[in-house]
Amino acid sequence: MTQIQTNQTKPLLQEVYKSKNTEQVFSVVRENIACVCCGSNNHKQLYHYDEEYFDHEKFETYSWDGGFPLDLTIVKCNDCGMVYQNERFTEESIGALYPHHPLPEKLDYSRLMRHHKFGFFLNMVREYASPSRLPKRTALDVGTRYGVLPELLNHRGYKAFGLEMNLKAVKLANEAGFSGVHHGTLLDLEEVMKKEHVDRLNLVSMIDVVEHLLWPQRDFEIISQHQQKGDKIIMSTMDIDSLGHKVFGKHWYFIHAQHTFYWSEKTLGTLLDQFGYDLKYVHRIPKYKNLRILPQEMMKLRKHKQHLSGKDKHFENGKRWFAEQRPSLFDYMNVVAEKR
Ligand SMILES: [Zn+2]
Repeated sequence: MTQIQTNQTKPLLQEVYKSKNTEQVFSVVRENIACVCCGSNNHKQLYHYDEEYFDHEKFETYSWDGGFPLDLTIVKCNDCGMVYQNERFTEESIGALYPHHPLPEKLDYSRLMRHHKFGFFLNMVREYASPSRLPKRTALDVGTRYGVLPELLNHRGYKAFGLEMNLKAVKLANEAGFSGVHHGTLLDLEEVMKKEHVDRLNLVSMIDVVEHLLWPQRDFEIISQHQQKGDKIIMSTMDIDSLGHKVFGKHWYFIHAQHTFYWSEKTLGTLLDQFGYDLKYVHRIPKYKNLRILPQEMMKLRKHKQHLSGKDKHFENGKRWFAEQRPSLFDYMNVVAEKR
């Protein structure tokens, strides 16, 4: 590994790796960022995992480090408590952490619509953002994959569309009959809204998205420019203030390098407030359900520690996924924010 200071004012750390088996050279650039909630540069290390934390001979580590011996550091802002990855991968480098799983040749529209997992989300939409409660009824789904959620919303009286970064997923979705799936990120929003003949977003959904963002301030600013009083953002993300994180700490299932920000109700509320939003509702799974699964998750933690220490007698040939036995409880929160 070579580590080069490429810029004095804003240090970028470039690490270059050469694969053992092939001639492939992999270069990653990381950057130091200030707290996105309060702007402070004053943070303390919460967890550090060195580059040998997972034995690459034994573990498949794609979302952890892309299979390269990269260390990972999670910090906590001393001023506001925001937890985030720092240094973190730059926009150009983070793609290496995402596995290129092959997509199916063809999508089955009716099967995807029948077996969707948005039941809870749709209930929340009905409760907090039903068309009758909104001035109009336009909806955007950020990171929509095949566009199942916009399609479900279209069937419920919205004019919904989605943004997806993976071009192949977009093509598959369009071929299968999912309307309104557009290739791009929030930077392409304006153009996509023109195509959809939409000038305002009454509902924006971000399911399992905010923990992956690189520039959450920029993204919420873009969204806020297209929302008005009463419009909603509904998000689902893991909660760093959850019981699961308190119990499992650095072994918590959700910690890996794809996750750049670890939100709590407080930090997400602080950031959204800067763009004119109030948190209207935060849903969490009740404690008794967490306590019910606690014993089995403690068991996983024990196994995980055995795997890490190499004392796993039953290890067979082939690699196991690094997070196979990493524990969590029902540590998600679902958040409804409303524009003031
Ligand atoms: Zn802060």
